[in-house]
Amino acid sequence: MSYGVELIDATPDWLDVPFLATYLVYGDRNVLVDAGVKSSSEKLIKALSNRDFDELDYVLTHIHIDHVSGLGYLHEKFKGYVYLHPKAVKHVADPSKLWETAKEALGDFAELYGEPKPIDEKYLVPVGNGMIIPSGGELMFIHTPGHASHHISIYHKDSNGLFVGDSAGIYIPQLEYIIPTTIYPCRLDLYMASLRRMKLLKPGIIYYAHYGISEDGWKKIDELYNRIVEWGKIAAEINSLESFTENILSNDESFREIYSRLDDVPLAKILVDLAIKGIYEEVKRDPEMLSRF
Ligand SMILES: [Zn+2]
Repeated sequence: MSYGVELIDATPDWLDVPFLATYLVYGDRNVLVDAGVKSSSEKLIKALSNRDFDELDYVLTHIHIDHVSGLGYLHEKFKGYVYLHPKAVKHVADPSKLWETAKEALGDFAELYGEPKPIDEKYLVPVGNGMIIPSGGELMFIHTPGHASHHISIYHKDSNGLFVGDSAGIYIPQLEYIIPTTIYPCRLDLYMASLRRMKLLKPGIIYYAHYGISEDGWKKIDELYNRIVEWGKIAAEINSLESFTENILSNDESFREIYSRLDDVPLAKILVDLAIKGIYEEVKRDPEMLSRF
C-alpha cells in the first residue's frame, strides 16, 4: 500500500494555462482534495478510473465554485464521504445559493465552470478545527478563514505536507512567486492569522490548488505573509486603488512580469485585481490592522 500524493489536473479545456489542481491522497481510504469543476469532471473521472478503487472520499478546502462544482458528477461515479467546513454543509447539499453567488461574482465564467449538483446530506461530514481522520494516511483539518469564512487546510502527516486550497496564495512555479488570494471582500486579519497558523505546522511541502507543489514548504507561506505586510504599508500611504496597483507593480519586478501576462488569461486577471483590492480595502477599513501581524 502506498501513502503518496498525486496531483490530478482539473483545469477545464477552455483554460489555456494549468489553473486547477486536485490531489489524490492514498491510504486505507483514498481521498481527493477538492473536486474541480463540472466542465472538467469528465477529464477527472477518466484520470481516476482504471485504478484499484471504486470508492473515494473527498475533502473540500472551501466551496467556491472552482473547487466544488465537479463534486456531484464525480460522486455519482465514486461514492464516499465528503469532509468540509460546518458552514459549507448546507450549500453543498443544496448548491442553489452558491451557484447564484458564483454567477454574480464571475459572470460568464461561472457558466463555463458549470453548475454544481446537490449531494445527499448523509455523505457530508462537517469537520472541526484539529480533527484528524485515518483516510489518506492521516489527515488533520485546520480551519483557515480569510479567503473564505468556510476555508479549511489539510495537514498530511506522511509527507509533512499541507493542502492549502486558496488560503495561502496562487503559486507561479516558473517564477517561484506567490500571489495573494485576498480576493475582495476578504477578512485580511483572519487571512494573516491563518497564514501564521499554517506556518507554525512547519510543513515541508505545500500543495496549491492554483497551482502545483512547492517543496519550499513553510518558507513560501512566510514569503506571502511578508509580501502582504509590505503591500499593506504601501496601501496605508496611498489614496486610490489604481495608484496602489501602480505602486506595487513598480516596486516588484516579478509581480510586474506576471501581471503583464494576465491580459491573455482574463479570469486570472479578475482574481488578481480583486486580491489587490482585498488588501487595499481592508487597510483602508482598519489602517492599524497589519501592525498587529
Ligand atoms: Zn480557487
